[in-house]
Formats: sequence, structure tokens, C-alpha cells
Amino acid sequence: FLGLFTHGIAQIQNDEVYEYPNLNAQDYRYNIRIPDIGGYKTLKCDFHVHTVFSDGKVWPDQRVKEAWNEGLDVIAITDHIEVRPNKEILISDHNKSYEIAKAQGDAIGMVVIKGAEITRQKPLGHLNALFIQDANKLDLPDPLEAIDEALKQGGFILWNHPGWPDDKSTVYPIHEELIAKKKIHGVELFNGWEAYPKVIDWCKEYNLAPIANSDIHYTSANLYRGKLARPMTLVFAAEYSEEGVKEALFAGRTLALYNHTLSGAEELLKSLIEASISTRVINEKNGTIEIINNSDISYEVKCGGYMYARALYPQHVLRVKIDKGSDV
Ligand code: ZN
Repeated sequence: FLGLFTHGIAQIQNDEVYEYPNLNAQDYRYNIRIPDIGGYKTLKCDFHVHTVFSDGKVWPDQRVKEAWNEGLDVIAITDHIEVRPNKEILISDHNKSYEIAKAQGDAIGMVVIKGAEITRQKPLGHLNALFIQDANKLDLPDPLEAIDEALKQGGFILWNHPGWPDDKSTVYPIHEELIAKKKIHGVELFNGWEAYPKVIDWCKEYNLAPIANSDIHYTSANLYRGKLARPMTLVFAAEYSEEGVKEALFAGRTLALYNHTLSGAEELLKSLIEASISTRVINEKNGTIEIINNSDISYEVKCGGYMYARALYPQHVLRVKIDKGSDV
């Protein structure tokens, strides 16, 4: 009997019911530490999320709750316009999933963005329209008209998983045309458990924002284990609001982050790494220094002839000896 009390954390409701609110994970969230840079807030975002209103398995408000648990700051609800296996039992309004999610976002202080996924075969493939006003108006036979409608509503057009489903990452003429007309603004470099390395070059060549998304269909608890397991886009925003996120996306201030790999413009990468890592000289004579990682991202460090592959662990200090004049 005494064993019940030894940890000192059981909350006693009364003599007949003991409660353990500390074991209820729904009120806990990962505090992911990635520093702000250049006067901007670093926001952790997932711009590709499905619910039961398309082919996902989760109710929209639960999407917001689990993203909050994962340490995210922003999600977009992006149900397919064209793929709706549950439409016989759920109403066919394409705005409904966002409305349910938004109410939950408002309740817990999390930004939820209205989106939709325009879903066609390659060559066009799948595109997310973000920050739209009315998703129903995107339900058009011609996907190019749907893109134009999204743009009319102020939409940011994101080219999803360009390497799926045929394991080829190809910029087709239709993408060249849309990019030239500024009708595609970002592209997924990471989606789910995939990476598309050619996208790094495309972002540079076509001036597109690099994006990492989960494209989540099932529960996050059965897809991801632990802090930073879920793909996320780092957005450097002037303020934590939908407008702040939108401005930063159109300005291209994003880095894609997945599997402790950061990808994007060199300038932003340098700023983030400079803000994350610091050094301290311990002994100038024998070259002993400390390298301090103030973030939750694992970094690789090369000191002289040694490579510490992913060994500058999150929130750790590494002590090394380096030869005078060698680079870190
Ligand atoms: Zn999708």
C-alpha cells in the first residue's frame, strides 16, 4: 500500500480514486530548441497534413493536438480536393476540415493555415495551395484553373513530393511554365520518409522555398518516435501569426529539416549554425577547446583531421584538442 506513494507524484482525488495527470501525455509538448536568427522567430511548421476529410485516418482537431505535442508551431490542413474516400459519410465541403482544426488551434494558441491539395497524375503531380480563402472553389476539372483560383485567393503554391510515385525527380515543361509565371513558390525537399536531393539545386535555380513536410495520413504517435523525428520546415518569421508565416514563405525564408539534415540557402544555414554553435578556448598552448551546441539539432564537426559525424549532440559540449591554425 505504501508503495503507491513512494514517488510522491500521485495526485489523490479522494480515498477511492487516485489520479496521475503527470502521466497524461496530451498536456506535454516537446520544447524544441532551435535559435531565432536575424531578428526573426524560428517557427517549426508542417504544411502538408491530411484528415479523415480526405484519405487521412485522424479527425482534424486531433491533428492540431498531436502537432502541438510534437513541438510544432504551425500546421496547414491540406486535404485532397480529388481523393475523398469518406465522402459518402462526411459532408463534401472542402473547408470543413480546416474549420474544425482552426477552432482547436484557437483554443490552444496554435497557428493553423487553410490549405488544399490539388491532386493529379504526373507530369503535373500534387500541389498544395496554402493560405486560401475557399477550398470549394478549387474543385475544378482543369488543375491549372484550380491553381489560378488559388492564386486569386492569395495562395502560396507548393509542389509536393516531386520524386513520388515513380522514384524520379523531374522538372517537366508544365513546372517550368508555372515557375516562370511565378505560380509555384515552394517545393518539398523532404516528404514523409523521403528526400529529393535534386530539389536543393531547383530551389537555387528557380528561387523556390525549400520545404520539409510529413504528408501525414495516420496518427503521429504511430509514425514518429521522439523529438525532431517528424519532418518540419523552419520558417523565419517577423511574428508568430498566419500573416507572419505567409510573408516569410513568399520571401523564401525557410530551411527544410529532417533526420538532422538542414537544407536550404547557404546564408540562412550559416546564420542558423552560427546562432546554434559557440566555442570556448580552454588552453591555447595545447589547443584544447570546447564546442557548444545550444540547439536540439545534432551537428557534424570537422576539427583538423577528425570528423565527428553527428556527434555534436543536442545541448552538449564537446571538448577537443586541435592543432594551432586548423579549421573547425
Ligand atoms: Zn498529400
